[in-house]
Amino acid sequence: MNKLLEEAKALQNTLIKHRRYIHENAEIEMELPCTTKYVMDKLVEMSYEPKEICKSGVVAIAGGKNPGKTFLLRADMDALPIIEETDEPFKSKTNYMHACGHDLHTAMLLGAAKILKEHEDEIEGTVKLMFQPAEEPIKGAQAMLKAGVLENPKVDAAMMIHVATGTQFPSGLLVVRHPGIISSASDWFTIKVKGKGGHSSSPNLTIDPLNVISHIFIALESINARELAPADNAAITVGQMHGGNTSNVIPDTAFLSGTIRTFNNETRLFIKKRLEEISLSVAKTFRAEAVIEYSCSCPSLINDAELVKDFKSYTSSLVGDDKVVDADKAQNGAYATMTGSEDFGYVTELVPSIMIGLTTGSTADGYVYPHHHPKTKFDESPLYIGAAAYANMAIEWLKNNK
Ligand SMILES: [Zn+2]
Ligand SMILES: [Zn+2]
Repeated sequence: MNKLLEEAKALQNTLIKHRRYIHENAEIEMELPCTTKYVMDKLVEMSYEPKEICKSGVVAIAGGKNPGKTFLLRADMDALPIIEETDEPFKSKTNYMHACGHDLHTAMLLGAAKILKEHEDEIEGTVKLMFQPAEEPIKGAQAMLKAGVLENPKVDAAMMIHVATGTQFPSGLLVVRHPGIISSASDWFTIKVKGKGGHSSSPNLTIDPLNVISHIFIALESINARELAPADNAAITVGQMHGGNTSNVIPDTAFLSGTIRTFNNETRLFIKKRLEEISLSVAKTFRAEAVIEYSCSCPSLINDAELVKDFKSYTSSLVGDDKVVDADKAQNGAYATMTGSEDFGYVTELVPSIMIGLTTGSTADGYVYPHHHPKTKFDESPLYIGAAAYANMAIEWLKNNK
């Protein structure tokens, strides 16, 4: 076995401990006091000097003793507002759940930190460790970028890993996607409609906003069905519609909100334009007023072509050819592009970057629930593989890109 992989394997029990502690104490968004304290304490124990550069955003530096470039490794640390329904002995003790596997990411990056510290003298440049809050609400990466995560020292390239459960792949495979756009851009919208409330017995004296949002909902369906080319993949989904408090009152206002997922900027702009035109004119048709607001937007994640090549070559030597899977070839490319979004997209806009998948539970092995499900589970056995892949990529890339 490769020496670095062997070192990572020796850390496996510690990685499980890290993961379970973070899992039990799940926290969300930018409020991760318990998680960041744990991460910072562990980093200090490893002789790092971690800094909280913004709320719940932690950075630590390895290497820097030899001249060279700077490679950034990123893990997100936030959970979701979901009540856990698994029977795991380390089930969440909070009202939140690590249902996306970010607890595994944090544990793996702590593992990489340990390995990098032990190899610090050999690092030909600097490795920056980025422990990020609020990936799920798409806020954390931007907050850390604003706080200067890519500066001092200036980052030259970056990598993240995301685990994947409930897939057809067996556990422990590192999945590489193609160069270019690999995740959707995401735009969150709210359409607020103002009508005129009144008594349910006299609808003629009111402007019913519930009627209006219903028509807007149906009309928005036509963008995808009738206005986009079949090849313009996009998902326009309304996730909530609200209005009214009781049966015999027509409310004053109502709103619906949802997300737009797209894979190229032209489609993205077209949909936003049509969403606005349709909502405003449907509201007008029914004598109401509509206002459209975008609460958050996330660009697509872009894989750098050179880093894709480099990762395949460095990681095949680490874990073996058969453990590094090309997503375009596997499953007829079914996993090559993700319809989900990832706020690491903001980093990929600024520096050459790569996202890697690590399989952590196949449906055949009983991991049948998808990410974000209250019953989802993750196989912990590949934690050390993720830690080794992180550390190895940084060390090798710096050695080969002086
Ligand atoms: Zn998620
Ligand atoms: Zn996630």
